[in-house]
Amino acid sequence: MNVKERLLNYVTIATGSKDGQDTTPSTKEQFQLAYFLEREMKEIGLSDVTVDEHSYVYGFLPATEGCEHSEHIGFIAHLDIVSDFGLKEINPQVIENYDGREIKLGRSNCILNAEQFPELQNAIGKTLITTDGNTVLGADDKAGIAEILTMCERLIHENIPHGKICICFTPDEEIGHGAAFLDLEHFDAAYGYTVDGSAPNEIEYETFNAASAVFDITGVSVHPGDAKDKMVNASLLQ
Ligand SMILES: [Zn+2]
Repeated sequence: MNVKERLLNYVTIATGSKDGQDTTPSTKEQFQLAYFLEREMKEIGLSDVTVDEHSYVYGFLPATEGCEHSEHIGFIAHLDIVSDFGLKEINPQVIENYDGREIKLGRSNCILNAEQFPELQNAIGKTLITTDGNTVLGADDKAGIAEILTMCERLIHENIPHGKICICFTPDEEIGHGAAFLDLEHFDAAYGYTVDGSAPNEIEYETFNAASAVFDITGVSVHPGDAKDKMVNASLLQ
């Protein structure tokens, strides 16, 4: 299977995560994708493939002969997609050999053009996968999963030498819980890459922190009609 076929398979499972749930994963569709991947990883030939109670999927590619002492390298991607328009049926459209012109998304009124998205110019001649305009596609981060598993398949089929490779697919990244239950000891990697970028050939080595905080502020309740000299700028309240 190639990376395109994999992505098209994965996006049809609408795995939008939902904030404010008290379970991990926050939506049961993430389990659906986790079990789907478990089957596929076993078929490819990964070892010790498991799905834990929080839908973390682990799998390993043991070192090839002579590479047993290399450092273990980890690859991580996330199962969930954003919940905005990510919980409905997703219908991808495939554009082969893109000619650089405006793209109409299905029968919706949405279009993609180079004015708004100059990076489209880099995709001329390539295959583009979009939605029909009614949902997100969810390539963030199913493209990452597709890339990692296609890499594993190539390493096996082409007998490419490598050290131990550790794979983990995590739930609920979009709502800030991506690593909450990651079992680092079991993952067993000395170094890890999150395959969740945007442009080809790009590696980021800085950590992005999406930590959030909740504040309780005692405000002033007053109707705007009577508010002169009473209403306070919200940013000045203590
Ligand atoms: Zn992502």
